[in-house]
Amino acid sequence: MSTATNTATTPTAPKYPDQVTGMYVLARTIKELGIEKMYGLVGIPVTEAAYLIQGQGVEFVSFRFEQQAGMAAATHGYLTKQPGMFMTVSSLGFLNGLTATINATVNCYPVIQMSGSSDRTLVDLNKGDYESFDQYAVAKPLVKAAFRINRPEDIPGTLVRAYRAAVSGRPGGVYVDLTVPAMGGIMNHDDAEAAIAAAIPAVDMESAVAPTQTAVDRAVALLKSAKKPAILLGKGAAYAQVDDKIKTLVEKYNIPFYTMSMAKGLMPDNHPLSALACRSTIMEKADVVMIIGARLNWMLGFGHGKWNPEGKFIQLDIEPTEIDVNRRIDAPVVGDMGLSLDMILASLGDTKLTNVDPTWVSGLQAETKEKNAKFAARLAANANAAPMNEWTALNAIKPVMESNPDVILINEGANTLDNTRDTIDMFLPRHRVDCATWAIMGMGMGSAVGAAVATGKSVVAIEGDSAFGFSGMEISTISRFHLPVTVVIFNNGGIYNGVGVNLAGNGEPAPTTLNINDRYDKMGDCFGMQTYFVDNPIDLSKALKEAIASKKPCLIDVRLAADAGKESGHIGYLNPQPLINVTV
Ligand code: ADP
Ligand code: MG
Repeated sequence: MSTATNTATTPTAPKYPDQVTGMYVLARTIKELGIEKMYGLVGIPVTEAAYLIQGQGVEFVSFRFEQQAGMAAATHGYLTKQPGMFMTVSSLGFLNGLTATINATVNCYPVIQMSGSSDRTLVDLNKGDYESFDQYAVAKPLVKAAFRINRPEDIPGTLVRAYRAAVSGRPGGVYVDLTVPAMGGIMNHDDAEAAIAAAIPAVDMESAVAPTQTAVDRAVALLKSAKKPAILLGKGAAYAQVDDKIKTLVEKYNIPFYTMSMAKGLMPDNHPLSALACRSTIMEKADVVMIIGARLNWMLGFGHGKWNPEGKFIQLDIEPTEIDVNRRIDAPVVGDMGLSLDMILASLGDTKLTNVDPTWVSGLQAETKEKNAKFAARLAANANAAPMNEWTALNAIKPVMESNPDVILINEGANTLDNTRDTIDMFLPRHRVDCATWAIMGMGMGSAVGAAVATGKSVVAIEGDSAFGFSGMEISTISRFHLPVTVVIFNNGGIYNGVGVNLAGNGEPAPTTLNINDRYDKMGDCFGMQTYFVDNPIDLSKALKEAIASKKPCLIDVRLAADAGKESGHIGYLNPQPLINVTV
């Protein structure tokens, strides 16, 4: 009896040459969807599927940790506007990957996680199947869309829907549960091909919805009334790939802009209208702020606090529920970014903004000059510090990165994140990927792989030593796939810094303390990377130049002072009760 019940879990091989399995249907559908690259970590029950996918000519980048395959897929999605696809095994593999899919959803990156899954007739009755877990139920509330496939014939249509769900409207993470009966089920070859051909649409996968003309007119009227206008560019604007339209809006109407972290480079950081150094002034003084693909969330004080209480907001976003979240939006423009900007530009026409205070732009430019000079002085003052601090290292890195503007910068850490973002100017759109909306650690190596694979460009990942630890094993992947990725590790021996205090005084490391003597370059050696250990700015600059030029997998271990870096970087104010000040 019991064996009969359990036979459904054993996939049978096709008996006849004209028969195929669901795994074949999956591989062929992925191919026909135009997916050229995907990511994953396989084992039972998806191993054969991955072989078949690779056999279709789809590049399959295999990882050491599912979460990092997901981070790669997320970065792939962000940089290409196509869903980043990745594959995981059941139970823990699924869960490890799901963290990245949820993070992608939070950040509006299009991702499809496909996971092998046990036969639901066993899972639902809690019979204790191999890696048995109700994955679909777990994923569903946490992602943009979720599907469970139980029959091979449902694979093509469901993958099409998953693709549409990932890229349409506000992009996000989609979960596809591939049960053993779906993967091992048999179809006639011709029926399978016919089902795939019938499912793949001949039309665009992303449905671009235009805003109403009323919304556009309202926004344009408000913008025209502005005395102190400003544009706030977020990563949604960068994602949308509407670079020329943004440039026209900024330059033709002479509107200063402030870029959120990942929007840096959408317009060059050194553009005369860049108000990157004037965040507080924009918040306090601007009377009309046009938010383009950004959210008034914690990173922007929820639109209150410093923000001018009399200021009015125009917001361009694909997602209607983003409007009025934290502050009343006077002129929402809900729709596809490209279509919205086209309509706004058409409505603005050739007339300039005539109400703008003549001192507004020049004032911001003067402030920028002053702030930049102060910043440069800080860098210069630390340029030769021994041992190095973050500013010493960044002062050495800055000219190298800025003379290689087409290198994609991946960045995570606390001080390493904040200080790198503030120091390294970006000049091209979508060349900076960081820990983004959740400000989580553990996206670095996966994102570096995704960026390199998706674009074919060189990548430099600037990582705090703690941040690197979350995904460090993926240097194995960087190396195996010969990716032009240079990993730069700012080693100050700890989370925030290496001088955390153990309040028990018993000699054990403090919760934030790692080992300043750890040699990450030797980890790189283990995987055959080109490695460097540097403790001064001259060697660092030389190593980074050489590493980028080599286009090989490289790792630079940058030894800093253990007391370089303060607790929580720029966001120490978020610590509930700073009982101790370990940074002095
Ligand atoms: P940042 O962190 O840079 O502020 P967010 O991720 O908070 O950026 O905000 C990005 C916003 O962009 C989201 O509200 C999202 O709905 C929106 N968005 C993403 N893609 C598009 C698009 N193609 N058209 C319009 N809005 C988009
Ligand atoms: Mg550190």
